[in-house]
Amino acid sequence: MYYSNGNYEAFARARKPENVDLKEAYLIGAGLASLAAAIFMIRDGQMEGNKIHIFEELDIPGGSLDGIYDNPRGFVIRGGREMENHFECLWDLFRSVPSLEVPDASVLDEFYWLNKYDPNSSKCRATVKQGQNAQTGDKFTLSEKAIKEITRLYLTSEELLQDKTIEEVFTEDFFASNFWLYWRTMFAFESWHSALEMRRYIMRFIHHIGGLPDFTALKFTKYNQYESLVLPMMKYLKERGVEFIYGAQVQNVIVDIDSPSERKVAHKILYTLKGKQKEIALTENDLVFVTNGSITESSSLGDHHTPAPTNDVLGGSWTLWKRIAQQHRDFGNPDKFCGDIPRSNFVSATITTLDNRIPSYVERITGRDPFSGKVTTGGIGTIKDSNWLMSWTFNRTPHFKEQPANELVGWIYGLFSDRKGNYVKKTMRECTGEEITQELLYHMGVPEKEIEDMAARSARTVPCMLPFAMAYFMPRALGDRPLTVPKGSVNLAFIGNFAETERDTVFTTEYSVRTAMEAVYRLLDIDRGVPEVWASAFDIRAILNASYRLMDKKKLKELDLPWIVRLFGRKGLEKIRGTMIYDLLRETGLV
Ligand SMILES: Cc1cc2nc3c(=O)[nH]c(=O)nc-3n(C[C@H](O)[C@H](O)[C@H](O)COP(=O)(O)OP(=O)(O)OC[C@H]3O[C@@H](n4cnc5c(N)ncnc54)[C@H](O)[C@@H]3O)c2cc1C
Repeated sequence: MYYSNGNYEAFARARKPENVDLKEAYLIGAGLASLAAAIFMIRDGQMEGNKIHIFEELDIPGGSLDGIYDNPRGFVIRGGREMENHFECLWDLFRSVPSLEVPDASVLDEFYWLNKYDPNSSKCRATVKQGQNAQTGDKFTLSEKAIKEITRLYLTSEELLQDKTIEEVFTEDFFASNFWLYWRTMFAFESWHSALEMRRYIMRFIHHIGGLPDFTALKFTKYNQYESLVLPMMKYLKERGVEFIYGAQVQNVIVDIDSPSERKVAHKILYTLKGKQKEIALTENDLVFVTNGSITESSSLGDHHTPAPTNDVLGGSWTLWKRIAQQHRDFGNPDKFCGDIPRSNFVSATITTLDNRIPSYVERITGRDPFSGKVTTGGIGTIKDSNWLMSWTFNRTPHFKEQPANELVGWIYGLFSDRKGNYVKKTMRECTGEEITQELLYHMGVPEKEIEDMAARSARTVPCMLPFAMAYFMPRALGDRPLTVPKGSVNLAFIGNFAETERDTVFTTEYSVRTAMEAVYRLLDIDRGVPEVWASAFDIRAILNASYRLMDKKKLKELDLPWIVRLFGRKGLEKIRGTMIYDLLRETGLV
């Protein structure tokens, strides 16, 4: 496996790998990572679909990429996906998956047209004081000290950031900034999360810094991601004969490990199907792809009148990873990610509005008609003075194909599930859907005397407790996540957001697809480049422009920078006018 960039490799097709007809593939979990791996095996590995078998413990594919009408609760999305143009592997995948809606188009075409003609942006990124625009504008309000801290983090190598938390590398100046407000709510970072992961995010998305305050950086699918992404992949795979085995929980993958060569061969899959213990004996030609760990594992739903219960029992994905990890240190350290629920959980909720009362507040705050079918909130809006640090969003409507035309479906989440609300004197995790709606309406500016009636009659809200929602961001050291193909492994790969690949950022759909692509290309020895992570972190234009934006558009001459005088003399930057460096500084806004 090797990385590539540019059109030459992107448009080329790989030759059929040697011996692929001898191989069989077993994928554990039917989430995005497995579905993507299966498509890469068929498209790029030219493997026959009927040689691919996908085990899923649930009775539905898609994993975290969900969206369902759960009768009688109502519409449910546990999360929503912010996406961007430089999801290199993901778009490489979806260019080949036909759209279910647009004839002769791919899912990529459909997404591209949608976001081109209805581009995303937010007119109100944050509110305060019950529905007032917080007027955070495009300002990051970072002090010089805070900018230095960001720069220091950017320049520090991963080795030195092992097990460090964000609060260990930043001070109050940073935490008081709009930048941190935008950042933590947009990506779900807490101050106790991994500094290493935060650094990867800054590097990975440096080209989007200017688009963070108004979300022009983001793109969204037309519907929830189950309908827009999972269903087209499922059609592709079923048409090619891929086998799906639902209700099959894999208990362990037994690996033979040779010492001292450390050659590793998966030789048995143990699983249960409908309560019966089963096993599959493997040869070296049987490839096993494990999605280790899952942030929606053990998630639980409440309803409009019932809170979502907290389920702290480790589910199939964590126990499987633990059992595999016990066999060799190269298989990672799951406890780092699933061992501290108070620091990894959050509560989300899906709200369906039933009449026009709540939509009129949505329109007042966003300045847009939520029934127009176009971008409405344009990503989350954050309630800056909410005790739960609550954010909410209404994407383009309908968010479900079957949604009645007079209803809106929105998503709410809070970063602090253990604090009492401002209106509802309960923690978010203790609240029913109705109480979460009350808290939201209070912050939207609904008069207090109307809140209870509106929450009871104008919405149906389903709370969801996700004990491991933020497990991807738990502080970690190198080696805690297994490599996609561990050293010496002949037929065992790890895929998804708890497998390790260089430079990319977890909590993204791209990461699941990238690890899938890398694992498939390695185990099948596919001779085509995997697109490297978009290299804006090394692009001086992106770095200079990000600096300009982080400094709230200050020009170099407005800053006290004695080094400029030292470097260029009293005439300062004038001395380099007419050079490429000056032109670059001008193009990126710095002069
Ligand atoms: C709330 C939330 C917000 C998100 N926001 C974004 C975003 O803004 N942008 C973005 O790009 N991404 C976002 N993501 C991340 C993205 O959705 C996930 O990273 C991705 O969908 C994970 O896919 P996966 O296949 O790697 O893992 P999963 O979806 O977790 O799939 C694992 C599958 O394996 C199954 N399984 C587990 N154990 C076993 C077993 N032992 N036997 C059989 N089956 C098993 C599970 O049931 C599941 O179906 C978000 C996710 C959530 C939950």
